[in-house]
Amino acid sequence: MKDLFISSCPVCAHTGKDQSIVRVIDEKHSFYKCLFCGTVYISPLDFADVVYDEKYNSEFYRPSDVRKAGLMAHKIASYIPENIQKPSVLEIGIGNGLTSFLLQALGYIVFGTEVCSSYAEELRKKYNIAVLPLRIEDLKMVEKFDVVYSSHVIEHCPDPHIYFRNAWTALRKGGLLIIDTPNASLVRNLSSEFKHFSTRDKFEHCCILSEKSSLYLCKKHGFKPVAIVNQPFYQSFFLVARKLNND
Ligand SMILES: [Zn+2]
Repeated sequence: MKDLFISSCPVCAHTGKDQSIVRVIDEKHSFYKCLFCGTVYISPLDFADVVYDEKYNSEFYRPSDVRKAGLMAHKIASYIPENIQKPSVLEIGIGNGLTSFLLQALGYIVFGTEVCSSYAEELRKKYNIAVLPLRIEDLKMVEKFDVVYSSHVIEHCPDPHIYFRNAWTALRKGGLLIIDTPNASLVRNLSSEFKHFSTRDKFEHCCILSEKSSLYLCKKHGFKPVAIVNQPFYQSFFLVARKLNND
């Protein structure tokens, strides 16, 4: 018989009776919810690598995506102190590139990352933005940024601790981490309707954060939360956190 409580939470490491299955994917894999911090995650992690190629990215140019890029650029700009003359922004998983393009139009210094190298090159040519062909897990920046931003990226990372650690390293002291991501707090039980389960590859969203688990990660990795904004229409939330130290 299948053991219902085989997993430990990838954020807070709680295990056993603190986990429940909220969605069965196949005979072997399920989404579990940590009843302590609210993270929803896939276990076990022995599925095939999800492919993020040009075809995957080509589907993010819908009118709603264009509108959202504008909203996000506006939001990011609103959190940056006015005394920073030319803010530098690193967008992790740059997607359609439109948010970074708009930030660049505001006079910001913009860098991006994208896992597909040919798509990274395409974006670089299209928007004249430096797009590094790598995963957040492989990010080793020498340069320090005023902002590290991502939209709908961290839920694709099996270990969000690596994401937070590398984002911390890429930020200057006092810099801002801004994350827009699906909200696992909206996953209540097996019957709940959560649109971020409906993905092209069913293993895409392998670790979905709640507000509580994002606060846990902030505390663990040297960030002070500045704001958490719920976005019910998108079933997501928006975290803004400030890097505390340099060491
Ligand atoms: Zn947890």
